[in-house]
Amino acid sequence: MGERDLAVVPRPGHGARRGARVFAAGSVGMGSAMPERWFRQAVIYCLDVDTFQDSNGDGIGDLGGLIDRLDHLARLGVTCIWLNPIHPSPDRDDGYDITDFYAVHPQLGSLGDFVELIHQAGNRGIRVMIDLVVNHTSDEHPWFRSACSDPGSPYRGWYVWSKDEPSDLHQGMVFPGYQDSTWTFSEEAGAWYYHRFYDFQPDLNMSNPRVRQEIEKIIGFWLQLGVAGFRLDAAPFVIEITIPDEPNPRQDFSWLDDFHDQLSWRRGDAVILAEANVEPEQLLEYFGGGHRLPMLFNFILNQRTFLALARREVGPILQALAETPTVPDTCQWATFLRNHDEVDLGRLAGHEHDEVFAAFGPEPKMQLYGRGIRRRLAPMLDNDIKRLEMAYALQFSLPGTPVIRYGDEIGMGENLRLPERNAIRTPMQWSNERHAGFSTARRKSDLRRPVISGGTFGYETVNVEDQQRDPSSLLGWFQRTLLTLRECPEFGVGTCSYVDTGQRSVLALLREAPSGTVLALTNLADDAATIDLGHLSAEHGDPVEVYADAAYPALGDELDRIEIGPYGYRWIRLRRTIGDRAGSANQR
Ligand code: MG
Repeated sequence: MGERDLAVVPRPGHGARRGARVFAAGSVGMGSAMPERWFRQAVIYCLDVDTFQDSNGDGIGDLGGLIDRLDHLARLGVTCIWLNPIHPSPDRDDGYDITDFYAVHPQLGSLGDFVELIHQAGNRGIRVMIDLVVNHTSDEHPWFRSACSDPGSPYRGWYVWSKDEPSDLHQGMVFPGYQDSTWTFSEEAGAWYYHRFYDFQPDLNMSNPRVRQEIEKIIGFWLQLGVAGFRLDAAPFVIEITIPDEPNPRQDFSWLDDFHDQLSWRRGDAVILAEANVEPEQLLEYFGGGHRLPMLFNFILNQRTFLALARREVGPILQALAETPTVPDTCQWATFLRNHDEVDLGRLAGHEHDEVFAAFGPEPKMQLYGRGIRRRLAPMLDNDIKRLEMAYALQFSLPGTPVIRYGDEIGMGENLRLPERNAIRTPMQWSNERHAGFSTARRKSDLRRPVISGGTFGYETVNVEDQQRDPSSLLGWFQRTLLTLRECPEFGVGTCSYVDTGQRSVLALLREAPSGTVLALTNLADDAATIDLGHLSAEHGDPVEVYADAAYPALGDELDRIEIGPYGYRWIRLRRTIGDRAGSANQR
């Protein structure tokens, strides 16, 4: 992969003469067949039910509240919501410590409320995905309680044990600095148990076929309730075969084939979106030629995009695209700028990592686990709305399905007084009313987490209601942009090639699909630029501006003098196949 995917073909005449080059690329993303899949033209919105909207005044967001806010999501233009864990949990890791995979946390509602959510979302054309957190359970899960209390328990073999103290117990922690070991001794069980994450999250033993059968049952259960798919938490650890004193555990990818089979037999168009922040050469194993996981987050692109934003140069993005393997025809990348975790910069080189820290998270309190930044995007970009819009326009033009995080559509900030990743998990800011309109709870202390109040990012200043009335707001921009994105299927399904603009700060991507070709330009710097892409006009006629950050002079047919403003972006349609979209829509 790499060079083959983003080959460099200089434009005729390039060299001594000034001018642009064409990087005629193979496809970054897909092959030529480009089958239609809903998740390749989706906009996914990630939210935590307990911080989104409270409907009963107990201070905790719930499914009823989410149903009440579906119109906001429909108006925003999202087509799928991904819910962070909704199951019963002691909530020591924000719900990622589960005590019952077949129920909804009573504070969030009931299974009846969940089915009502699926129905109401469906009425608005919105699918629902949930988190599938099966690497581990809570240590309060009845399976683990039984396993600890009785060596003869049928659940003993559902977890990973060592009778002797493992030599590698201080290795492989997911939360360095906040987690001391990966093995903990249980007095009750008289043995050491394994936990990739915190000690209250014992790992399930995936080598045990009964555990895998149970996971398939969990998948089947939620599919039957109507979910469109799952976001698979910690995929690399799920498939790991853990043996005490084995520092390099083997992974069994065939389990992913089984999960995929279960998924597709039960619901043909269901999707698993996996979290696998691994080396590029391992990524294709997760796709498995299209018969394992259909969708992966592109962590490499995320990290290099932050480096590119910090440098105001496109180089790191091009490097990421070159490193990104070509996915099978039926698969897709998911792009993101911010998610519910820290910005993980662990795959950048030391000096690159330092550059991003210096630009976006210079203070120690902004940093986390020695590898990341626990901030929202708006404060990282100094609340510069032009730059924020450019960053999202950039994300939307890159290969993959965009995933956005609740609150980012209004430019919410973080609360660094909250521990670890909770800094970016504060309640949604709906209005300038008390508790940001999130809850009618009587006391502040009843709220799931404090609402951000006062200052640049307080709910008094940053909220949905005010921005809804203001077309020039970030929310207004998101609504217009996501509508435009849905009119340009090339961004979801098209191949991606890079065109050299001769400017280090201006990215030019050609997105080509059966429906047409779109040229996406993004200026990462705050200086205006003029670029010459005249060589493209020979292949394409009648360029039409689809979307841009400002009113630019009309495009000539020659494309030899394209202006782009500071932090500007322009989406220009170079070719449109009339009737093709109607034909392909029928294939869905
Ligand atoms: Mg509530």
